Amino acid sequence: MERVFIGLGSNLAEPQKQLRGALKAIEEIPHSRLLRCSSFYHSAPIGPGEQPDYVNAVAELESALQPIELLNQLQSIELAHGRERSVRWGARTLDLDILLFDEFQLDEARLQVPHPRMAERNFVLLPLAELAPNLQLPTGESLQQLLQNCPQNRLEKI
Ligand code: ATP
Ligand code: MG
Ligand code: MG
Repeated sequence: MERVFIGLGSNLAEPQKQLRGALKAIEEIPHSRLLRCSSFYHSAPIGPGEQPDYVNAVAELESALQPIELLNQLQSIELAHGRERSVRWGARTLDLDILLFDEFQLDEARLQVPHPRMAERNFVLLPLAELAPNLQLPTGESLQQLLQNCPQNRLEKI
């Protein structure tokens, strides 16, 4: 079993409900076990145009799936929650990103791990630090180093 961290985000259609539904669905992913989820956070939107605030969280899983198989599972959960991909970084009902997949470093067309933009996102790093404050990334950096260098955008624990 590999240790996996998933970033959850929503800013449409009752975001907290979306995240709770997503966690239920993640519990059903085969050959995997949901261990824990961080607190939920309100965060300022990134991306184009006016958008509602986001709700974000990070979940910790154990999984025996291949990374791409886990991505397939997460994308089908997104679709089941009405996710549409029209505008890049546009408002969405549900976003499920693989942040870390154990020690894997992948740079494939469909999957980059560690998530290439996590270091600039306090709405990812802070919930992750709730679950694993002493985490070392496969790149050699520590989570605490990333936190020190991360922009401090608006973020409130719910
Ligand atoms: P961002 O990746 O900046 O958070 P996003 O989550 O809004 O943006 P999506 O529209 O959810 O982007 O996904 C676009 C594509 O990113 C997906 O089709 C997927 O193949 C690819 N992708 C690459 N790496 C990852 C990853 N670590 N987790 C999830 N999707 C990934
Ligand atoms: Mg994302
Ligand atoms: Mg995504």
